[in-house]
Amino acid sequence: MALGDVAGQQRAVRFLKQLVKKDAIPHAFLFTGMPGTGKLAAAVEFARVLECVRPVEFDACGRCGPCNKISEGVHPDLIQVRSDGASIKLDQIRELRERFRFRPFEGKWRVVIIRDAQKLLEQAANALLKILEEPPPGNVFILLAPEAQMLLPTIVSRCCHVRFQPLDDTIVAEFVERQSGLPPDRVAEIARLSAGSIEKARWLTEEDRIAGWTKVVHNLEKLDGLPILDLFQTVSEWAGKAAREDVEQDLECARLWVRDLILLRTGADHPLTFSISDKTKEAARRVAPESLFLLYKDIEQAMQNLKVNANLQLTLEGVCLAVKDSVYGQGDWNSFSKGRQDLPL
Ligand SMILES: [Zn+2]
Repeated sequence: MALGDVAGQQRAVRFLKQLVKKDAIPHAFLFTGMPGTGKLAAAVEFARVLECVRPVEFDACGRCGPCNKISEGVHPDLIQVRSDGASIKLDQIRELRERFRFRPFEGKWRVVIIRDAQKLLEQAANALLKILEEPPPGNVFILLAPEAQMLLPTIVSRCCHVRFQPLDDTIVAEFVERQSGLPPDRVAEIARLSAGSIEKARWLTEEDRIAGWTKVVHNLEKLDGLPILDLFQTVSEWAGKAAREDVEQDLECARLWVRDLILLRTGADHPLTFSISDKTKEAARRVAPESLFLLYKDIEQAMQNLKVNANLQLTLEGVCLAVKDSVYGQGDWNSFSKGRQDLPL
């Protein structure tokens, strides 16, 4: 493999190759984009270009000693830092700093890839910042994160920012077909639902995932006209059966569903992810676009809250009430409080 083989990220790849061509390698990069869009593959391939001893047209040859060592994951000058549990800790950055006392072992460059850089704990982030402020020569840092806002602005400002786009459905479909051998209609469905992420596509390829998402859309559309007490009942069953990660995925599904409604409402010429019922389509066309945007943000916030251990049932209730209010115009708080009185407390 080479940098040019990273699928669907022509702009980022072209930019990185230009830097190689100009021999103007910044000491730190930040690659942002949602998971499963090729950030890690591009970072490793960029490292390979820098280490390759016989580069071809500003890309790695894929055959020399260093190229092979990178394929085998044994190149001594390519270091990957990943989270230890849920976070990247100060000790890990200190350990890294120790290694900078030595020059790169084999080539001109040492490449340090920091995966999920948004998981740097505060002290670790500050220690990394210190390193980036006085970068040891011969080292290239590549930080990977979903979004720049998730990192300290002082770190972001020291990095050359490269954005990775969601992948085209055709690229995801090719990948799914190669990996799973599923029939074409199923492959097309997974590619559509993946929203441009190979990681998501891989997840959806597992058994029952698509059925699960169909159920989520069904639950959301069922909120139209649903009495509040029944809503609590639905949510209670929903949260009762699911693990935390499953609910996170369910909310991802809800978010994509709201994105479809935004596309419908704004008349954007973009294929929808789900097949939306006529009733919901009608409802979406009546709603102010702003309230759909707000709902989208609410769901994103709920996803973040789940990551920091928010209560599953309360989070889902909040999302369902917001959908009922924003999409179907049924934020009837009187019936809400009346219903609450009937609940055994
Ligand atoms: Zn090579």
